[in-house]
Amino acid sequence: MARVLRVARSSSSLFSFGSRSYSAEASHVSSPSPFLGARRDVTKERNVQWVFLGCPGVGKGTYASRLSSLLGVPHIATGDLVRDALASSGPLSQQLSEIVNQGKLVSDEIIVNLLSNRLEAGEAKGESGFILDGFPRTMGQAEILGDVTDIDLVVNLKLPEEVLVDKCLGRRTCNQCGKGFNIAHINLKGENGKPAISMDPLLPPPQCMSKLVTRADDTEEVVKARLRIYNETSQPLEEYYRSKGKLMEFDLPGGIPESWPRLLEALRLDDYEEKQSAAA
Ligand code: AMP
Repeated sequence: MARVLRVARSSSSLFSFGSRSYSAEASHVSSPSPFLGARRDVTKERNVQWVFLGCPGVGKGTYASRLSSLLGVPHIATGDLVRDALASSGPLSQQLSEIVNQGKLVSDEIIVNLLSNRLEAGEAKGESGFILDGFPRTMGQAEILGDVTDIDLVVNLKLPEEVLVDKCLGRRTCNQCGKGFNIAHINLKGENGKPAISMDPLLPPPQCMSKLVTRADDTEEVVKARLRIYNETSQPLEEYYRSKGKLMEFDLPGGIPESWPRLLEALRLDDYEEKQSAAA
């Protein structure tokens, strides 16, 4: 772990780890928004350092990736780092496959190492800021992250549990272009004061159709295990970040067409997207 911390600290010039020139708390106090003055982060001082929390299948990857394109920061999904390590022929691969295929969490040490390596590689390419997806997932990981940097904002995406299983089972990736799709039709009736949720499938273009693959851990049994582990191990992170005033709760109102504009609005980035397209 010491090595990991050293690695992360050595990234300070790029990621402003522990930067004293920027204080997320200061911008929080002066901002009328509870969400840490997202727009101020984007336009000056340094690039954003955001975290996406949420159950498996909620759509962290989709929205983190869209925001990363919009804000010009890397989207770093630790699940992708794990899958890359699994696909390599190194000694880690065998060790990881048993853990991941049972829906369990990889050790903090391994995951922090994978993330540190990714941050170092990004630093070498001149990357700045990040949107983390799937990290932290344990209190230990949150503490390590908190030791090396000030996270500006934690977005907690939420959907009812019934929807999450169907969304995970409908997930597909094109093994050529790498894009993600979803073949699930979600139609949850509103009851007991909860709103109805409907989501159209996100279907692939014809050229991807024959190249779709399903993640090995997106089976019903493993998805249910991952949801259980999320509730036990990762949910306490919500309270941790809430108590620091960094948590933005976001109940997804539906699929991407309904949710994306509402998320931008909640992040006070709605006119930022228009300005970016006008400038392009
Ligand atoms: P995901 O794509 O985020 O669902 O991650 C896929 C799998 O990678 C998880 O089920 C875990 O086995 C592993 N993994 C990803 N991120 C973490 C993390 N932060 N801590 C521990 N295990 C992780």
